Amino acid sequence: MAFVQGHCFSNHSLYSAKTFDFRARKSSFKNGIRCEHGDSAEFEKGLETKKWRKLRILIAGGGVGGLVLALAAKKSGFDVKVFEKNLSAVRGEGRHRGPIQLQSNALAVLEAIDKDVVNKIIEAGCVTGDRTNGLADGLSGNWFIKFDLLTPAVKSGLPVTQVVCRMTLQNILVNAVGVDIVYNKSNVVDFKEDSDKVTVILDDGRQYEGDILVGADGIWSKVRARLFGWKEAQYTNYTCYSGLTEFVPAYNSTVGYRVFLGYSQYFVASDVGAGKMQWYAFHREPPGNTDPPSGKKKRLFELFGGWCPEVVTLISETPEPMIFRRDIYDRDMIYTWGRGCVTLLGDAAHAMQPNLGQGGCMAIEDCYQLILELEKAAERSCNGGVSNEIALALKRYHLIGINLVRAGVIRDKHLAKGGQGQG
Ligand SMILES: Cc1cc2nc3c(=O)[nH]c(=O)nc-3n(C[C@H](O)[C@H](O)[C@H](O)COP(=O)(O)OP(=O)(O)OC[C@H]3O[C@@H](n4cnc5c(N)ncnc54)[C@H](O)[C@@H]3O)c2cc1C
Repeated sequence: MAFVQGHCFSNHSLYSAKTFDFRARKSSFKNGIRCEHGDSAEFEKGLETKKWRKLRILIAGGGVGGLVLALAAKKSGFDVKVFEKNLSAVRGEGRHRGPIQLQSNALAVLEAIDKDVVNKIIEAGCVTGDRTNGLADGLSGNWFIKFDLLTPAVKSGLPVTQVVCRMTLQNILVNAVGVDIVYNKSNVVDFKEDSDKVTVILDDGRQYEGDILVGADGIWSKVRARLFGWKEAQYTNYTCYSGLTEFVPAYNSTVGYRVFLGYSQYFVASDVGAGKMQWYAFHREPPGNTDPPSGKKKRLFELFGGWCPEVVTLISETPEPMIFRRDIYDRDMIYTWGRGCVTLLGDAAHAMQPNLGQGGCMAIEDCYQLILELEKAAERSCNGGVSNEIALALKRYHLIGINLVRAGVIRDKHLAKGGQGQG
């Protein structure tokens, strides 16, 4: 969770219109597709059930995007399997896996997919959108600008921005999806496409067939590499220290998150509920630098020691073992997210920089758009070839869908302002 300007888009008019669509929509599609391998003799005898089966969706990656897609797919009556290489992996957000800010746009989409899940997230999380949030000067601590996240959300009838622990979010999603659907310790290494199916291949040799494969396997996506060839991610010139502390400052009741800005470095601090504060310290430097195990705080004091008390106090109140470090990477925007019956979603399609606070939110939006298109494909496949309908649906999802536009707009605006990337 780290953000500067993602909020600018969460109430974008394009988005608001779409949100209301989400809410107005009732699931009306048929969850079956015509099975082209059906037994036509049986069909002629009137045993139509033999001719129908559920659309099979294979998902590589059980991160935010993969799990929300699985939930949406399950809710829509599809047959779904998620292959996650390690559900308990240590990810860049730190060993504690840090919190994630879910902005109004993502919460609204999740609400349209599964209201109970949103209620659980709200129960477990911490609302920050009803407090002062914004940008401040790193040295003096004076506010540059304050963002009103509450009024636009309330006016549009959207849930208010909040923060939730990633592990809690993962647990809520895995439980809602069902443990039988999430295949842990399943590392996707390849896939093969046939005219009427796709087969996903795991590193231990297991293979699973489906109608669609979705690569929701993050910024280092194997599915993307297999689709479009491997390309190195670009280092963004920024390294990121993250810390979690049980120190609760007095201003916590009035401030949600604050981004302290400086030259070639910035510091993000947010209340994350349960008596904890999360912070991220970004510093411009070459990749691959490391600190001795007990040296991160020392380095941070060298970099941020002269900053305002709010920053210095958070660093000093954080135990050394709760500080982690990662270099931040980014990828170029691609304008085609798939081929045939294979597509990408979330960071695999459009890596988002942490300071946008929108990467996870956009992954959630992708899920909705993709399922919407697949529902239409399932309906249309009653009259035509399944593979064709799927390929068209996936094209509509990334080419015509609103998400490519949003991802592009968010990234371009940010890059135009000299933003940094994500790891
Ligand atoms: C420091 C930081 C703070 C951030 N803060 C926020 C925030 O506040 N709000 C926000 O919206 N976004 C935030 N983001 C961005 C957000 O974390 C990502 O955009 C989001 O996690 C993308 O979701 P995803 O599902 O596409 O990918 P991921 O969450 O990366 O999930 C990919 C999953 O695929 C699995 N996987 C990878 N390869 C394979 C394989 N070969 N086989 C099987 N499984 C595989 C991985 O283990 C992982 O579980 C932040 C990012 C960073 C780095």
